[in-house]
Amino acid sequence: MRSGHEMRSGHEMRSGHENHERHESAAPFRLFHVPHVLLVLFVLWVPLLLASNAQAAKIEQRFPPPDFGPDYVFPESQQLPARVGWLAWMDAGVLVAALSAAAWIALRRRSRREMFWLSLFSVLYFGFYRKGCVCPIGAIQNITLALFDPTYVVPLFVIAFFALPLAFAVAFGRVFCSGVCPLGAVQDLVMIRPLKVPRGLDEGLGLLRYFYLGLAVLLAAMGTRFFICQYDPFVGFFRFNARFWIWVWSVALVLLSMFVGRPYCRYLCPYGALLGMLSRFSFRRVTITPDKCVVCGLCTDACAFGAIREKDEG
Ligand code: SF4
Repeated sequence: MRSGHEMRSGHEMRSGHENHERHESAAPFRLFHVPHVLLVLFVLWVPLLLASNAQAAKIEQRFPPPDFGPDYVFPESQQLPARVGWLAWMDAGVLVAALSAAAWIALRRRSRREMFWLSLFSVLYFGFYRKGCVCPIGAIQNITLALFDPTYVVPLFVIAFFALPLAFAVAFGRVFCSGVCPLGAVQDLVMIRPLKVPRGLDEGLGLLRYFYLGLAVLLAAMGTRFFICQYDPFVGFFRFNARFWIWVWSVALVLLSMFVGRPYCRYLCPYGALLGMLSRFSFRRVTITPDKCVVCGLCTDACAFGAIREKDEG
């Protein structure tokens, strides 16, 4: 019989050995430790932000608005001013970097803490700095309109914003939703006590997003309106300029997100519907410790998003 000391040292030796192995397997990635990457991105972001603001000021000086008199009220627009070429491509570059980081964190690191930092970065960059535009969700409408109206031209970087998260979904699953989409991140950040939604209700409400996608595509194809942008519940937060009813809708959704995990993603997001369809064919996806799973079902109960199903549920 082995003494407690021997048992402890055996355990320590084993964990030391395991730690060593884990350490070795993580070694090739040590150079790219995620918090450091995010810090570097943030440090680079500040001068770029200043440069882009200076550029915007220059454009405003070259094309000042005409003087309509003191009583004229300028109409509110949903469109942001066009981005200078290299800045638009910088956004696309940041999107690729963020998608790659999300894939690496989800599949290799399996770290919720690192995903949290990436989400925070995405809210700051794609949300508050880029004011939620261009976003892949709204780009559905630009792409649709361009397909039906030959006179409507979609810039290449808008196509990139639409296609890149879909391409990553085919390769790695829905990594865009995990930590890159600012809309999903906002819902995660405000969630405090998620309740379990009954499976039937969850699946029934989940069909709404296909309806929403169909309606948005139909209205864009007819050139009537960009429905998704018009009723986007989060863009008002990012721009501080929503109309009254949109504010009511936004606040209601944020309050709901405190008690239901990601309601917009699960029941309304049209781009999430597309990503969901494509990710069924993904080459790689997040798995639940397949070599250690004892089918206890605890994760199914604990998942705030109803995203984990037992094997017999498909
Ligand atoms: S489902 Fe839609 S809103 Fe939610 S994270 Fe994915 S793309 Fe963003």
